[in-house]
Amino acid sequence: MKVPKTMRKFCPKCKTYKVMTVAQTKQKGKNKTHPLSRGSRTRMRKRGLDRGHGNKGSLSRGAISSWKMTGAKTSKKLNLTLKCKECGKSISMIGPRVKRVEVE
Ligand SMILES: [Zn+2]
Repeated sequence: MKVPKTMRKFCPKCKTYKVMTVAQTKQKGKNKTHPLSRGSRTRMRKRGLDRGHGNKGSLSRGAISSWKMTGAKTSKKLNLTLKCKECGKSISMIGPRVKRVEVE
């Protein structure tokens, strides 16, 4: 997917539509966004997390090939950071699932 370098978007600080520069950011996983949460254990088990016994290390979880959701998706959600050219306020935007991104 091709993404333009600049977009006209609503700036919450200037309270009008302003030209913003676009940069791609890395998607934050569950560990970063919710560092203390492990979710419901049944749900995590279905997704291949929170499996095993003991300290759930590499030996007590079994082989990766036996986990249910490993390698299920090949695309990632598009994460963009838009920065206002006038006030410098940055906002984040999450786009659709894409395999490849080009900011041009
Ligand atoms: Zn602004």
